[in-house]
Amino acid sequence: MNWTRYFIPTTKEVPADAFVPSHQLMLRAGLIRQVGSGAYTYLPLGYRTLRKIEQIVRDEMNAAGAIELHMPAMHPIEWWEQTGRVAAMGDVLLRLQGRGEDWRSRTVLGPTHEEVITELARAYLVSYKQLPINLYQIQTKFRGEARPKSGVLRTREFLMKDAYSFHERVEGPGGLNETYQRMYDAYRAIFGRCGLPYVPVEAESGAIGGSVSHEFMVPTDAGEDILVRAADGSYAANLERAEVAPLPDAGDGRHEPLREVHTPGHGTIEEISRFLGCTPQKLIKTIIYEANGEPLVALVRGDHEVNEAKLARAAGVRGVTQASPELIRQVTGAEVGFAGPVGLQARIIADRVVTTMHDAVTGANKTDYHVTGVNPGRDFALTEVADIRLAMEGDRAPNGQPLRFEKCIEVGHVFKLGTKYSDAMSATYLDAQGQAHPLIMGCYGIGLNRIMAAAIEARHNDKGICWPVAIAPFHVVICALDVRDESVLATARRLHDELEAAGVEVLLDDRDARPGFKFNDADLIGFPLRINVGKRSLGDGVVELAVRKSGEVRKLPPAETVSAVTGLLKTLLEQERT
Ligand code: ATP
Ligand code: MG
Repeated sequence: MNWTRYFIPTTKEVPADAFVPSHQLMLRAGLIRQVGSGAYTYLPLGYRTLRKIEQIVRDEMNAAGAIELHMPAMHPIEWWEQTGRVAAMGDVLLRLQGRGEDWRSRTVLGPTHEEVITELARAYLVSYKQLPINLYQIQTKFRGEARPKSGVLRTREFLMKDAYSFHERVEGPGGLNETYQRMYDAYRAIFGRCGLPYVPVEAESGAIGGSVSHEFMVPTDAGEDILVRAADGSYAANLERAEVAPLPDAGDGRHEPLREVHTPGHGTIEEISRFLGCTPQKLIKTIIYEANGEPLVALVRGDHEVNEAKLARAAGVRGVTQASPELIRQVTGAEVGFAGPVGLQARIIADRVVTTMHDAVTGANKTDYHVTGVNPGRDFALTEVADIRLAMEGDRAPNGQPLRFEKCIEVGHVFKLGTKYSDAMSATYLDAQGQAHPLIMGCYGIGLNRIMAAAIEARHNDKGICWPVAIAPFHVVICALDVRDESVLATARRLHDELEAAGVEVLLDDRDARPGFKFNDADLIGFPLRINVGKRSLGDGVVELAVRKSGEVRKLPPAETVSAVTGLLKTLLEQERT
């Protein structure tokens, strides 16, 4: 392929609204162009990489026994109503604007496909003999993301590989656990082949207890998620899920008597600790939630934050929401800011750390008053105690290892769904005895565009992208350094054809431009290898072969170039696999 016949609109400008490296580099290298907020055109080079990622994903899914199909982006809203997700998804679920009740008003654009696949399963997967089965597609998703940002890391239209498995049972042969493990391993193979430095982590599944989910994270500052992992790699979770080791007893108590203090207008942790001259660690933060229509009170130390996912799990409910001021007044008999566990008539779940506190300070359930000398167990019952707080810097993993916090990008998610969707949509199969049971399901998603951007985040330098060979748009660029010189152009063309014949993807930069200009573009786009064919070096009987990642340059006769290139590509491909 000749550069002048191709379409590579590189640019020097860094767009003002592009902050993260992958966004800047993809625009500058001519890989993408923004069409609207959260929507991008993939230009030819960018599309080549996206297609390579797609092929890796497809290969590994097929190898893991998944079967490809293709579902539409337009779904009947009825199915989403059956699973209650019209409400649950809110503005993320994009709907067509119709006139009155016409078909448009009854149509949504799929942000994911559990409903459509469950309907398919309901229609066709009727017997245990058809199970297990794992169906997948690579298809465009639509999501009304409130803030599309960071280029293609978060968009409103993106390519996802989504797989859905159906089972009779969770454990044992053919069970959900078996396929889940296969998908987990397939994901490792996919990210490994794409050269991504990924970390699988335990993730929050959001549903009631037991359910398992893992996310695959790529640590990078451009990420919006937080990865919490032990320094020695023995523990990794996302922040929502991360468990912490218990803290030792604060050991600072004289078991003072309870005392009510007047704290007019001081309702926040900062205000009250300043007013009483104590640290936030001496305060018990009392937060009132609502769960299943009942008040639920969470207690954490003043400098800690409640982890609502952990709280919901400890309470055995689907989710919790912060109580309204009315409910808070009703439960505490006081204005917001003066709640405390002493004498409170409600279900209370205390964080484990609260049990280590002595002579603490809490609200008095009386407007403008707090109580001091609060001793958990003595002044209020510790009926329910659990780990319900967010991990923070300085915490240790459950195994005692110190935890580190890093920003990261979620590139994939595997999930044990259980019967959530088959129950909601009555998707059942008949067992050997002719008894009907809901299908047990798993689902497995990967964002293809995100893999591309995450790979750039993980592999770039100040000059541009450093593509891993496996997903580079072309393996090699040949820079013909003086295109007006017959012998230069002839050698460059011959090398191009020989490389192509050897199965190497090669682009010939035949532009009539200065060497420095061509090198900058080549480094910006990030071709793994560059061959320089120049008049002077040809005079010495050699061409130059430069490795993008290491910066290493070799001189070698043109006749040895093809075997050197194929050898190097093979070595790089092996080295880059993570
Ligand atoms: P996030 O928490 O980042 O919004 P999610 O949990 O909603 O992601 P899933 O529903 O699990 O994502 O989707 C599966 C995969 O699809 C994600 O792991 C990610 O790689 C990709 N993905 C999700 N949302 C987007 C988006 N708006 N733009 C690009 N890729 C996305
Ligand atoms: Mg997710």
